[in-house]
Amino acid sequence: MTPLRNVIVIGSGPAGLTAALYTARANLKPLIIEGLEAGGQLMLTTLVENWPGFRDGIMGPDLMAEMRAQAEHFGADIIRGHVTAVDLTMHPYKVTTSDAQYQCRALIVATGATARLLGLPSERALIGHGVSTCATCDGYFFRGKPIAVVGGGDSAMEEAIFLTRFASHVTVVHRRQTLRASKIMQDKAFANPKISFEWNAEVEEIQDSGKGEVTAMVLRSNLTGERKSIPVEGVFVAIGHTPNTSLFKGQVETDVNGYIVTHSGTRTSIPGVFACGDVQDHIYRQAVTAAGSGCMAAIDAEKYLERLPQQLDEAVLTPNAEC
Ligand code: NAP
Repeated sequence: MTPLRNVIVIGSGPAGLTAALYTARANLKPLIIEGLEAGGQLMLTTLVENWPGFRDGIMGPDLMAEMRAQAEHFGADIIRGHVTAVDLTMHPYKVTTSDAQYQCRALIVATGATARLLGLPSERALIGHGVSTCATCDGYFFRGKPIAVVGGGDSAMEEAIFLTRFASHVTVVHRRQTLRASKIMQDKAFANPKISFEWNAEVEEIQDSGKGEVTAMVLRSNLTGERKSIPVEGVFVAIGHTPNTSLFKGQVETDVNGYIVTHSGTRTSIPGVFACGDVQDHIYRQAVTAAGSGCMAAIDAEKYLERLPQQLDEAVLTPNAEC
């Protein structure tokens, strides 16, 4: 077992690295365990134009490299582990990676959410080069261009409607004949003259991986097997997100979709365990809101640690009252 830490942060996206920065500057000497997808979802983007302070934008991976270096500069220890288990039944909490076991007084969970993908090789090859999972982030790059949105839920409708502000036309591709989205979102999408629908259709391929840009998508009807190619310059995959919470199942309260439930800032159902970023936010899902909640988690953890010596016993035995 390694020496007891004040704070361990699991995850290294904008939420985790902001929590790292703030806890490091509070002299708590945090340990950050990066996880398999170090840097989080911004590592899959190219130009980020909505991070305040960069008039001409900044590349997603560059932004994450800067955030990482800034946290390290103030004393955060960042390691490349992948957490395989956590034990929150006893204080101090235990965090196990494939290489070691760590223990901490306070834990900040910033494991994010993973956008679901279709699983096509061409989709993976073109992500960040015309294939996107975030209309708010990338819609602006598609001014005057024909694009597609894949999915039939509220997210897909919201993204399709939002994208009509930029795109010349939006084709919604849905695998069934009826939408899953709420009636009000359906009505808005159906009423929008810039949106058309491809029903019972599945994306078979996004072209053109060879050129490194999106030029068309090949759809296959799951009723007839018929294929057709539609010229598009962007494909937004909006088939849902999966919060990365499997490590915490049965230990921390989650909602029906698996997102960690937070109260009074970033407090979870377990005293001393805080959650920030997309792992607890299925609404905003922006880098800047994730970073904001990372700051909140760091401040919440700091306050918790200040009070810890007197409250340790109660804190371990009693779940957070509001949860
Ligand atoms: P969702 O409701 O789970 O919808 C996912 C959609 O993607 C479904 O239409 C599904 O098809 C389709 N899909 C899933 N896997 C697919 C695959 N492999 N290939 C093709 N299509 C696939 O997810 P969501 O739209 O992200 O919404 C998540 C939650 O957030 C929901 O509760 C939603 O109401 C809420 N939300 C609300 C708002 C709002 O109120 N403004 C906005 C966004 C999200 P099937 O229908 O065939 O299953």
